[in-house]
Amino acid sequence: ELTGEQTKAWILAFADRVIKDADELTELDRQAGDGDFGWNIGSALKRARTDLEGGNPAEVFQSVSDTFLASGGTSGPLFGLWFGRLGAGPSAPWAVSDLAKAFDTATGAVRRLGKAEVGHKTMVDAMVPATEALASTETRSWREALREAARAARAGADSTSGMIAHRGRASYLGERAQQVLDPGALSIAWFFDAAEGA
Ligand code: ADP
Ligand code: MG
Ligand code: MG
Repeated sequence: ELTGEQTKAWILAFADRVIKDADELTELDRQAGDGDFGWNIGSALKRARTDLEGGNPAEVFQSVSDTFLASGGTSGPLFGLWFGRLGAGPSAPWAVSDLAKAFDTATGAVRRLGKAEVGHKTMVDAMVPATEALASTETRSWREALREAARAARAGADSTSGMIAHRGRASYLGERAQQVLDPGALSIAWFFDAAEGA
């Protein structure tokens, strides 16, 4: 089962990846938005890295939520809500079924707050397939389940290149941003990739 310590290692690996490659996220947001996404998510995760606490996955995710809720951009409150709903999961190590339930609740909350569905070219395009992968996996290994979620999130993120945005600043650009990958979706793919570091 996934422990609090392993969840911390996962978040630290995610933070390291985002901070190392923040320029890539910023460049995508520059092409399809206002160019602050790398900064917004990177500064939240820098704070999360130092404030990380919790004895089980829920508490760790809750501490990440707090730093996102205090950070800027459209993405701050959305990530804050996502991690906050994960933070409402069970106060013990998590089995695959706990992961599936928690991500289902969290992704549902982001869809409602952002009024975003698959195909709208947002982070939801990566969250939904990852969540579905966790719900339908046959494995009882959380590592393998998160590997399947990572593959699904990556495919979802890739699919945003080619979409016309229906939400967020990219929607003001219409076809001009059509070929640009959504940075929010890419960051979700990195999040699930980072579970390899747990
Ligand atoms: P801002 O546009 O305020 O600068 P950020 O740069 O922090 O916002 O975040 C942009 C990302 O937020 C996008 O790449 C997209 O994934 C996500 N996003 C924007 N609007 C929505 C929405 N309504 N629902 C879900 N995600 C959204
Ligand atoms: Mg932006
Ligand atoms: Mg902005």
